[in-house]
Amino acid sequence: MIKEDLIKFKELSEALLEAENKEPVVEPIEANRLFEAVDLSLHEEGMSDDSLYESLHDLVMKTPRTATRQFFNQLFGGRKSKAVLGDLMAVMLNNSMYTYKVAGPMVGVEKEILKQIAHLVGYSEESDGTIAPGGSMSNFMAMVMARDAFKKEIRYTGVTEKMTLYTSAACHYSIAKNAALMGVGREQVRFIPTDEKGVMLMDALDQQIVKDQAEGFVPFFINVTAGTTVMGAFDPIDEAAAIAKKHKLWLHVDGAYCGAVIFSEKYKHLVKGAELADSFSVNAHKMLGTPLTCSIILAKDKRHLSDSFSSDARYLYQTDGDDYNLGKTSLQCGRRNDALKFWTLWKSIGTKGLENLVDHQFHLAEVARKYISEHEDYKLYSYGDSISVCFNYKNIAPEKLCTALYEKAALMVGYGTFQADTFVRFVTINADNSDQEIIDFFKTMEKFVAENESMLTGD
Ligand SMILES: *Cc1c(COP(=O)(O)O)cnc(C)c1O
Repeated sequence: MIKEDLIKFKELSEALLEAENKEPVVEPIEANRLFEAVDLSLHEEGMSDDSLYESLHDLVMKTPRTATRQFFNQLFGGRKSKAVLGDLMAVMLNNSMYTYKVAGPMVGVEKEILKQIAHLVGYSEESDGTIAPGGSMSNFMAMVMARDAFKKEIRYTGVTEKMTLYTSAACHYSIAKNAALMGVGREQVRFIPTDEKGVMLMDALDQQIVKDQAEGFVPFFINVTAGTTVMGAFDPIDEAAAIAKKHKLWLHVDGAYCGAVIFSEKYKHLVKGAELADSFSVNAHKMLGTPLTCSIILAKDKRHLSDSFSSDARYLYQTDGDDYNLGKTSLQCGRRNDALKFWTLWKSIGTKGLENLVDHQFHLAEVARKYISEHEDYKLYSYGDSISVCFNYKNIAPEKLCTALYEKAALMVGYGTFQADTFVRFVTINADNSDQEIIDFFKTMEKFVAENESMLTGD
């Protein structure tokens, strides 16, 4: 059975690759027509293999093609084949990462990745980390460690003080959501203003902490972002570290989007001072081309990980030391192997190869910014050292433009808002893209606008 299904998998994948080649952007299905357009129903009785393959083929062909070189809609993209190979093997093996007994050498695969990344961040042997189910959950783990470090008993007593935390107005929404999840509350999040580039204002941060202390709040956590979700801006970690030290607060670097600059000689200055932070996260499924999800969270002092996340479970932890039983430091119990796909990619192209991915994405963003600044009909909202290229074209409402491009299956790109502006947010996150493909994006969009001008400018 598995042999036949693997052959079928190969056939289906080849059919998909061919379809992606011909039609990189698939015709979307209107959400309210979905269940008419695709047969998704489940029944009492099963079906023959051939009918199942047919259903699956239909479903695969109608699904958005996020791995093509015309997908610029989100902060992930491309398809690194060696990473796909590793992920497919992880599915075949189906280990759970909680114990050495059931994950064996896969524990070492994860530990090697964590060790190397800790080294790149500048952390010592005292540090450790884990792989979380995404950047939002990496942030959650950092916030829980900060809460527990603030007061050890809090894990037992619950939150009783008016604890406050600090992040920029441009941070990812998971910070506020996590504040709610961890019992601190959304109202205790202080959104510090940013400059015009989206960088948190350090004076305002310091003043807000002092003000809160005077009013009886207890500040415990500062989040800085390495690559804000919309503008791709980097907060100054070293300056935030000085403020965190002065007030004895935990400092976390949310590097979900662009923390991967630690791989680049040329761009690692953007996270200068990272080694001073108490925790650091980076999504390999964003800049590093690994399939969803692969999010790494590191703690400078590994004791915080076990303090906050270990639980005794006699039914589970029956062999080997805690250092090899990764369930002692993870958020989940059963946990899929998100390490292997990143390891196969890293093993195949080396640390230098990962550096090239990062550098190329910044290069592609430069190509895009250059094109925009050389063409009159555009307005650019982005700055250098960012892989988010935000722009508007010919005064066309970006919401309208992005939706029309999607509905007509021309291009997948989204829009964003920063301060008073809304614009197209074009992300050069797919390192497989060539310079020409970036130019072609603009040409395709311009042609589309020319052909649909009345629809886009009318209301
Ligand atoms: C994408 C992103 C996150 C969330 O990561 P997920 O893996 O999508 O949960 C957090 N912070 C920033 C800055 C991001 O860009």
